[in-house]
Amino acid sequence: MWGMKYPVALFWFRRDLRAFDNAALHAALTNSERVHCVFVFDREILDALQNKADRRVEFIWESVVELRAALAAMGGALHVIYGRAREAIPALAAALDVDAVFSNHDYEPQAVARDAHVAAQLKQKGITFETRKDHVIFEKDEVLTGTGKFFSVFTPYKNAWLKRVEAFYVKPYPIEAHAAHLSAPSPLAGEAKACPGEGRGGEGAVDGALRSLETMGFQRTNLRELKFPTGMAGGEKLFSEFLERIDRYADTRNFPAVKGPSYLSTHLRFGTVSIRGLAAAAWQRWQEGSRGAEVWLSELIWRDFYVHILHHNPRVVDSAFKPEYDAIRWSNDPERFTAWCEGRTGYPLVDAAMRQLNQTGYMHNRLRMVAASFLTKDLLIDWRWGEKYFAERLNDFDLSANNGGWQWAASTGCDAQPYFRIFNPTTQSQNFDEQGAFIRKYVPEVAKLSNKDIHAPWLTPPVEQRARDFVPGRDYPLPVVDHAEARLATLAEFKRALGSKSPPPAGEG
Ligand code: FAD
Repeated sequence: MWGMKYPVALFWFRRDLRAFDNAALHAALTNSERVHCVFVFDREILDALQNKADRRVEFIWESVVELRAALAAMGGALHVIYGRAREAIPALAAALDVDAVFSNHDYEPQAVARDAHVAAQLKQKGITFETRKDHVIFEKDEVLTGTGKFFSVFTPYKNAWLKRVEAFYVKPYPIEAHAAHLSAPSPLAGEAKACPGEGRGGEGAVDGALRSLETMGFQRTNLRELKFPTGMAGGEKLFSEFLERIDRYADTRNFPAVKGPSYLSTHLRFGTVSIRGLAAAAWQRWQEGSRGAEVWLSELIWRDFYVHILHHNPRVVDSAFKPEYDAIRWSNDPERFTAWCEGRTGYPLVDAAMRQLNQTGYMHNRLRMVAASFLTKDLLIDWRWGEKYFAERLNDFDLSANNGGWQWAASTGCDAQPYFRIFNPTTQSQNFDEQGAFIRKYVPEVAKLSNKDIHAPWLTPPVEQRARDFVPGRDYPLPVVDHAEARLATLAEFKRALGSKSPPPAGEG
């Protein structure tokens, strides 16, 4: 067609599993006569996963099935490769004889390295690699301080973000209107034998067919049992349900027993929803007077903020954002760590949180803060241990948000919780699960206790113990640590590590 930059292009889906409002897909379709599409089940990522019943792999698989159907309905097709993206993408691009490969930005250090490798390989073959912003509203250097530096404190970042945002940044990139440029299904088996990224040691041709989870070494999980909606349809369903309650978000979001938050994090992670669509809707509701929508938009800005932090400070992956905090001597007791992982610390709210994570792959935001604070401040265990455990288990695991959340809770991060403000797990429980409804769901051992005793079962008076046939230590673990003692030990260690840099202690006991 006249005027097109490229005759043939390849669009590579990654954390943007949707066939609507997709920036780089739109760029591919408006710059190329014909666009092939591909998704890679990347063995570089999959082979490293220890747990082969991984809800995320199943979520991706289900979402890819839906994406493939959506592309087919528009006259297109999706090649699905099981192999190493580093090699598979350049090989497929060559086999399809494309002029350009399009993709959306990924800001994680490993993905940046992968993309640099792919770009170099493509360049050698004379193929252009074009990328776009899609995952966030603002990226890289779009929101900076007055002196051109990155922001390390959230509120000024948020203010600058709100000042900068306008309709242009949240407008959708239409796909359907340009769908005529999607390439129809093409038999690839013969064409692409040369894909070395495919299969083990290059065996097997790229047929572009979708393999089963089992063929890729994974199993079905309890995702369906949990009624966890996948794909674009799932994201849309959750969002439309959330819009019914968004006005109440500010009041409900801190109570894990209440259906307060959106539960959209996994969809945001894999791009089955569009951040632009969500931000635009929240913005509009806020303008109409919704306080809940204002607070929720703030959460979406936190998401951008942590991507901004990771982009400008990739070292946070392994070390404290504030380097002086790397001097902390963590106690790293393996038995206590296991008790935390398995939800047997003796603190019911912490245990309920960990069991929610283990059983569903989700944990409420309030509980992530409580569980992370307990691990780092009550057990004095390295935040990196907790971060890794969350990374393995969270359906919505995202390096930037998870690292940001952990460093916030451990006080090692940018704009973090001051180290002397240590959550009291019992008070948190009384404040945010007053009736014990959430605890009762995940810690049935203490379900028969009164609303008063359920937050600290070891303090149940003997008369109550007899009346309810409950013996602390027999029916439910005694606390692994005494909070008051642990708090003092942690304060002393942080103070020692920080030396003269330590701020004055105060705050929650
Ligand atoms: P909602 O309350 O509906 O919020 C809407 C969206 O805003 C979320 O889906 C998420 O994309 C974004 N958001 C909300 N809070 C934050 C935040 N503090 N930082 C960044 N983005 C935020 N979020 C992840 O997406 N992946 C993680 O791996 C992750 N790890 C965390 C670890 C710790 C220790 C802590 C304290 C927080 C972590 N969070 C993480 C942030 C937050 O807990 C989750 O985003 C939220 O609980 C997801 O539920 P929701 O979609 O119902 O949230």
